[in-house]
Amino acid sequence: MKLEDVKVIGVVGAGVMGHGIAQVAARSGYEVILVDINDEILKKALENIKSGPYGLQRLVEKGKMTKEEMEKCMERIKTSTSYESLRNVDFLIEAVPENLELKRKIFAQLDKICKKEAIFATNTSGILVSSIATSVERKDKFIGMHWFNPAPVMRLIEVVRGALTSDETFEITVELSKKFGKVPIPANDAPGFFTTRFINSWLVEAIRLYENGIAGIKEIDEMCKLAFGFPMGPFELMDLIGLDTVLHIAEYLYNETKEKHYAPPITLKKLVFSGYLGDKRFKFGSRGGWYDFYGIKK
Ligand code: NAD
Repeated sequence: MKLEDVKVIGVVGAGVMGHGIAQVAARSGYEVILVDINDEILKKALENIKSGPYGLQRLVEKGKMTKEEMEKCMERIKTSTSYESLRNVDFLIEAVPENLELKRKIFAQLDKICKKEAIFATNTSGILVSSIATSVERKDKFIGMHWFNPAPVMRLIEVVRGALTSDETFEITVELSKKFGKVPIPANDAPGFFTTRFINSWLVEAIRLYENGIAGIKEIDEMCKLAFGFPMGPFELMDLIGLDTVLHIAEYLYNETKEKHYAPPITLKKLVFSGYLGDKRFKFGSRGGWYDFYGIKK
């Protein structure tokens, strides 16, 4: 298989990441089939692709895209609640919650449905790619393709080969990432790869400093922006990522490495268990994020 053979892209999971990935693929000229568990989520995903904060409408307003191009782009995205609709995709990107068993279960089903030549990519933030690949026969066609949030804006794709990923699969993934306008950079398969291990340490440290009374949530965000020039502070970033995703990652990294500094702080758990899963605009069913839970004005 070559990059030119990739015509139809499947995206499984239409949440924070999946809808943005579908948007990028459609904007790059690909036919996209976006799958999730219910129509309500898919409807919200399409709304976000069109008129969300990082959606196509914004590009039309900035003069980077015509209204006709936007409509054509929207037409290239088909939605479905059935995996059967993914039968003929050439490249599949999975963006379901960060849970090894869930990902394995879904890939095992897709392995039976999708055509044999199709490449399977997981957008896991940090689960060992080789461990997810155990669920499929096509281990040579299985790879980690780690996008960043918001997917239409952030340029890095961390490309992670599983133990049995073929050179061909790696090369097509790298070339496709470039076609999407992204910069692919390889990292080795290990819990958290590079980026997640690095950012997790920073995020959980910010929570611990808050728990220890060193500074407030808003103050920590402001200090990070003003002192270090970061575009957003750690609490704002967690609200964007999704607090449940941050928790899953911290638990996974801690369980795999047994290094205490990766462990999820108790305050993070409290918010997630209370339904505060992050920014309501992206996170389906969330009651809000850090600022909402503590009633802090931005
Ligand atoms: P999310 O919870 O916003 O979205 C996941 C979507 O998957 C939901 O819409 C859910 O309904 C759907 N889903 C659940 N079970 C499904 C099933 N059986 N079949 C089809 N769809 C199903 O999560 P997210 O933030 O988009 O994260 C998705 C993946 O991307 C995770 O592995 C996460 O670690 C990774 N990731 C997240 C970020 C981030 O900033 N949020 C960044 C990079 C990578």
